[in-house]
Amino acid sequence: AADDVPPSPEAIRGRVLMFPLPFQGHLSPMLQLAGALRARAGLVVTVFHAAFDAPDPASRPPEYRFVAVGEGVPSADLLPSGSDGDFVGAVLRINDRLREPFRDRLRQALAESEEDDGGGGGARCLVVDSNLRGMQLVAEELGLPTLVLRTGAAACLVAYLAFPALCDKGLLPPPSHDKSLLDMPLDELPPLRLRDMVFSTTTSHANMTRCLDDLVAGTRSSSGVVFNTFKELEGPDLRKIAGAIGVPVYPIGPLHKISTETSLLAQDRTCLEWLDRQEAASVLYVSFGTLVSIDEAELVETAWGLAGSQVPFLWVVRHDLVRSSSSSSPRHASLLPAGFAEATQGRGMVVPWAPQHEVLGHRAVGGFWTHSGWNSTLESVCEGVPMICRPRFADQMVNMRYVQEVWRVGFELEGGLERGKIEMAVRKLLCGEEGREMRQRAKDLRDKADKCIKDEGSSNSAIEMLLKRILSF
Ligand code: UDP
Repeated sequence: AADDVPPSPEAIRGRVLMFPLPFQGHLSPMLQLAGALRARAGLVVTVFHAAFDAPDPASRPPEYRFVAVGEGVPSADLLPSGSDGDFVGAVLRINDRLREPFRDRLRQALAESEEDDGGGGGARCLVVDSNLRGMQLVAEELGLPTLVLRTGAAACLVAYLAFPALCDKGLLPPPSHDKSLLDMPLDELPPLRLRDMVFSTTTSHANMTRCLDDLVAGTRSSSGVVFNTFKELEGPDLRKIAGAIGVPVYPIGPLHKISTETSLLAQDRTCLEWLDRQEAASVLYVSFGTLVSIDEAELVETAWGLAGSQVPFLWVVRHDLVRSSSSSSPRHASLLPAGFAEATQGRGMVVPWAPQHEVLGHRAVGGFWTHSGWNSTLESVCEGVPMICRPRFADQMVNMRYVQEVWRVGFELEGGLERGKIEMAVRKLLCGEEGREMRQRAKDLRDKADKCIKDEGSSNSAIEMLLKRILSF
């Protein structure tokens, strides 16, 4: 890929500093953005990262500069806690605890960039994850322009922008006396319902409000917001956002298609050989991303649901996928029920971590059972793979609603996980007429995604505009 070629020293036109949120679903798009900038504009890159979460030295591009921030801060202080992971609490703590250490690191990086990058124009700007308002404030203090990277859908930011008004109306947090309100459609936010705006059940309303206020303030005070989406997928929501935040909006996705991927985890590539032996569009790929966990009973129902569907499957069971009732018991694939391996022999494969882009792009994969994280959703759309959606928290419900109601390339698996329901959903997606239609619509979206990154494409033009902006700083 073109982005594997670093610029020669005389071609360097400045340095871009980046601070991703230390989670895979946020880190990958940031590094992909780095690859795109480096390839096209001769920009060199410094990546700041929380000290506990250093990208694997073997997989990171050698000419990037990586700078650890907050060495003394215990990682437990910065990670989500609780059963469903209090992601919002972690974001607030990361901002609080890393802000001071970042100030020193940034000063140092600015000084070094003056010296090392000489004629190239020095540090142009800081690109921060939209959740890192604290780091953005430090850059503002030091007079450095900032860009914000939104790693979620445009639809999700539209929902976040509407959050305060729904609080003012007394609808959020949802009144506990009337559960039926949860299904109320939100006229100002179709196709969302009130329940899709409940982004967390583990976070206090005060923390959620603080987190979203910071996020929105960060987009407004930035010099532009970069989105991992494309105009043909989310045009109306992108226009709404541009009107609401008053800074330029750059939809340059799908980022994983314009730049190389970086994984923090070792991938099991033998599953690709296994896929080679399966029939076209016959396999269900099952993965719940990097953060979602399930309990032991859900694991058992999922296993027997997959077995009973009679459909070939590739299932990612992360080492920490299963929340154990007793913390001392093992938390991995050995928890799969007795007899499951025999029952699915030759028809199913379980791996701890998969090369997801390649899996979704494999001709044998005909459907994806996903937790509806934005990266997974976008990756699926870009390969023309329809989805069974099982959203849990954060923006996942919003993504699911768009998949089901707007793009119509998948459907929600609702309610408690139960083997009979799973079997039916899997067969609907892989073997039924409805699934076939969803696959066709997904393929139409894939063609649009392919086009938008070509020469005259919308994302390609947005990258050109973004580069102009960066070089103007
Ligand atoms: N992923 C992967 N291998 C796996 C499972 C997930 O490479 O076995 C990657 C996937 O391609 C995606 C990311 O992990 O880029 C998950 O991001 P997403 O936004 O879907 O969900 P999150 O983990 O942030 O909830």
